[in-house]
This record gives sequence, structure tokens and C-alpha cells, in this order.
Amino acid sequence: MFGGMQEHELRVMRLLDHAEKEHWNRELVSHWADGSETRTNWAGVARDARKLAAALERMGVKPGDRVATMGMNHHRHLIAWYGAIGMGGIIHTINPRLFEEQLAFIGNHAEDKVLIYDRAFAPIVEKLKPQWETIEHYIVFDGDGPDSFEAVLAQEDGNYDWVDGSERDPCMLCYTSGTTGNPKGVLYTHRSTVIHAITELQPDVFGLGQKSVCMPIVPLFHAVGWGLPFAAPACGCKVVMSAVNDPAVLCDLMNREKVTHSAGVPTVWFALFGHIDAAGEAPEHLEVVTIGGSAAPRAMIERIMKMGARVNHAWGMTETSPIGTIGAPPPDWDAMPLEEQLDLAVKQGKVPFGIEMRVTGEDGMALPRDGESSGHLQVRGPWVIDTYFKEDSGPCLTADGWFDTGDVAVIHSDGTMQITDRAKDVIKSGGEWISSVELENAAVGTEGVAEAAAIGVHHPKWEERPILLVVRKPGSDVSAEDIRAYLARHVAKWWLPDEIHFVEDLPHTATGKLLKTELRAKYRDYSIA
Ligand code: ADP
Repeated sequence: MFGGMQEHELRVMRLLDHAEKEHWNRELVSHWADGSETRTNWAGVARDARKLAAALERMGVKPGDRVATMGMNHHRHLIAWYGAIGMGGIIHTINPRLFEEQLAFIGNHAEDKVLIYDRAFAPIVEKLKPQWETIEHYIVFDGDGPDSFEAVLAQEDGNYDWVDGSERDPCMLCYTSGTTGNPKGVLYTHRSTVIHAITELQPDVFGLGQKSVCMPIVPLFHAVGWGLPFAAPACGCKVVMSAVNDPAVLCDLMNREKVTHSAGVPTVWFALFGHIDAAGEAPEHLEVVTIGGSAAPRAMIERIMKMGARVNHAWGMTETSPIGTIGAPPPDWDAMPLEEQLDLAVKQGKVPFGIEMRVTGEDGMALPRDGESSGHLQVRGPWVIDTYFKEDSGPCLTADGWFDTGDVAVIHSDGTMQITDRAKDVIKSGGEWISSVELENAAVGTEGVAEAAAIGVHHPKWEERPILLVVRKPGSDVSAEDIRAYLARHVAKWWLPDEIHFVEDLPHTATGKLLKTELRAKYRDYSIA
């Protein structure tokens, strides 16, 4: 027996249709690298997406073809997503900060037909053109010649009907950064994208509404811009984007445009604090700040909370669209003392409806949710990966259908998940595990420490022992003894690093995370006597 309700495929373009009809005059503001700003609205985005869809068709792009972008955050980038998806294509966001070989690999593996890029990336695009075998058309987002985005749109009248199809069709492709081996492609469906977008609007997730002013600082090319480009039109909020990541620009924009919701990795907030300290200007309207991509340190969460905003500490991956877990205030939040609130907020939160999670031991069996049993974090749900793009060997799941995230975590009895490490970053000392993440987070709580990385190095007796690499804040003379004394109050004694080395800077991945592989390679032959 069938139910009696209408069948509507969950197609991404319905998100934009909704914004165009119901919130047509809600603004999108773009701040460009040269300091100029462009303002449009949801009606303008929809009109231009139709023009782009028509232009792509005219170029010979067919449904299912990949249209790549290499761009920072601005409304034209958003239009490119909707234009490509609207004509039945697959939008493929390329992270321009990847290494050249990875960029060449990704373009060819995805078989991109078109590349739309920011002028700032022209040197790398020119260099890679001879290596990309399938790209037939290049368009420049902020160019001024015949190949410019605006010139391409200007040739179309905007009379265009979106290509329809199944909610199970693919709409977007995003590669993981591939810290080991070649990057892998995650191919999202219309259905997974729409369900994820609706989920993000929930009060306990991003809590976005028509009144919100949202500024994704997370780049659109990093894990689907955390889904914000799809959640925003679903609720019709205002969107503010900056093509430059200068904290002074971001802070000024936040205040002028009255940004209420923002999202970015911890490094972004560190940079913003630097600006606040130096210039004395702080964001004044923030209500919800989402931090994810790597663990948000306690001191950072506290500072943002004291600025009057709620901190959403989120965990996710490219493979999970990306929301996996998120920290929302529990019923007794208001009665908690600050320290207790912070104890909770440093954890990565709970799953929203739709995601299920478990941690498993080496035997693959689920471990208890007791806050102590640490194991492999596995998830499943309608916006979690099943099979990597073009992966002939089939689904990347356990025999019983779960995706193993490669993270090591505990689940507390209240359902809050806490990442203890990435499986490959765990420091194995005498058969016990030391969390490099916890050491790092504790270390950055020390006055004068800007950033810290903990890695395991060879030890003749214990197999591995932690060493800590520390970047001092400008002007600070914090010593190894200071750091050790601070750490001793926050981690188990046997976790204390055997050595603390001061360095000028630390290597980061294309998405701003510590590049542990490079650090480990550097210290491969290092041994603690
Ligand atoms: P990339 O490696 O390209 O940055 P992702 O953004 O998909 O890829 O990275 C996902 C990984 O980032 C997770 O598996 C986890 O290790 C880490 N991560 C994400 N959010 C958090 C968080 N809040 N705390 C700790 N680690 C996190």
C-alpha cells in the first residue's frame, strides 16, 4: 500500500527556488580582494544561476558532467554552484591550496569539463592547464575579458528551466585533502544535500532563520562550505562573504553587516583574536559561532562565549557532508557554572537526528558509552558516504554498513562524543594511547603559547613518547618549564612530553590543520635517549 502524500523529489534547486520566491530581496554581500564590495539578493542569484546554466549548456556541458571551481567566498562562486547543478551538472569545488600534483590529479580524476576560477589563482591555473586533460573551458570569476564570468552571463537572457531528475542523482563532488595517498572524491546526491541543509537549520545545529545574517568564513571549497550555501537559501537568511581572510576585513564586515552566525576552523578565530587584541575592535552582533575542522581549544571557546555568542563545537568530515556531531546547550545549561559549560563545550557534541554513531574496539564490537572506552568512531546516516567516486572496489563501509571515520573517540553517557585523536596521530606509549589533540589543546592554554603540535617519536623503552613543538606568541618568552608546569595540572603525568622544542612555525594542510605527516617525517629518525 502506498501512502497518500505527494511525491516530490528532494532536488537542490528547490532550495534556491524557495529563496527566490519567498526571500527574494534578502541580500548577499561579497567583499573582494581589492576592497570593493558587490551586493545582490536571492532573486539575483537565481537569475544569474539560470544564465550560467544556459551558458554551460551552450558550451556543450551535459547533465552529469563536472564543472569545477577554484574560488574563494563570494556570491559568484555560489552562483556557479547553482548554475552547474541547475543544468544537471555536478559542481566540483577544488581546494586551491592543495599541492600541484594533487590539483593535477583531481582535475583529471574528476574529468572536469569547465573550470571557473578567481584571478588570484591564474598563475597556478596557467601552470596546470597542460596537465589537465579534460577541461575545455576556462572562466574567470573576477576577470574583465570575454572569458569573464559576467561576460559569459551577459550573453544569456536567463530564460531557463532547471533540469529535473531523481533525488538520487549526483550534484556535487568534493575531494578529501589526502594527507595520505591521493585525494578521494565524495559524490553527494541531491537527496543527501537537501536533507543535510534542512538539518542544519535546526536550533540545535546551526539555528539559522530568515532573520539571521550568516558569514561562512570556512571556504566554500572546504567540505561543501560546511553546507551553508545550501542551508542559507532554505531559510532565506542574508549571506556575507569575503574573498580575503584578513581578520581586520572580517571583523569590519561582521560589524557593518551585523553578522549573527559565523563558521570557521580554529585558526580563523585565533587570527581574529589577534586583531581584536591589536585593534581593540571586536565583533558585536555574533550570536552563534560554529567551530570545527579540528578541535576547538577551551580558551578559544571561553573567549567567544565571553563575547556573548554561543559556541557550536562541531565535528564532521567531507565524507559526512560534513555535519556529524554538534554541541548545543543541554536542558541544564543555564544552571551550569562556566567551568562546567566549558567542560562540555570542548567536547564535539551530539548527533543530530539522522546520524547514528558508535565507537568500536579492535574486534569491531561497539564499546560502552561510558566516557572512558576509547575506540574507532563510526557513523551512518542519509548524508554519510557509501562509496568514493569511481571506486571500483565498492562501498567504503564495515561489513555491517558503518563508515569508519579514522578518528578515535569516546562517547559519554549523555551521548556527547569526544574526539581523542585521529587514529594515525595517536601516540602509543608502552601499549597505552596518548591523545596528541588533548596535549595540544592543553598546551595552547599556557600563557604565551600561540600554537602547539604533539607527535610521537621513537623511544627505546616505551616504543613512542610525545614531544611537543611550540610556536610562541610574538614577544613572549614562555619557557619549557612554564609549559610543563601548566600541562601537569591538566593531563596525566605519564602524558607529559619528554621534550619541548620551540619552532618559528608549524606546517598546515590545505584546510588549515596541523600537517602531522610532515612533522612525523621530519622526526622519523629522532630518538629520545
Ligand atoms: P581534510 O582532511 O580535508 O580537512 P575534513 O575536513 O573532511 O578533511 O577532515 C575531517 C577530519 O577533521 C575528521 O576526521 C577529524 O579528524 C577532524 N575534525 C573535524 N572536526 C573536528 C573537531 N571538532 N575536533 C577534532 N577533530 C575534528
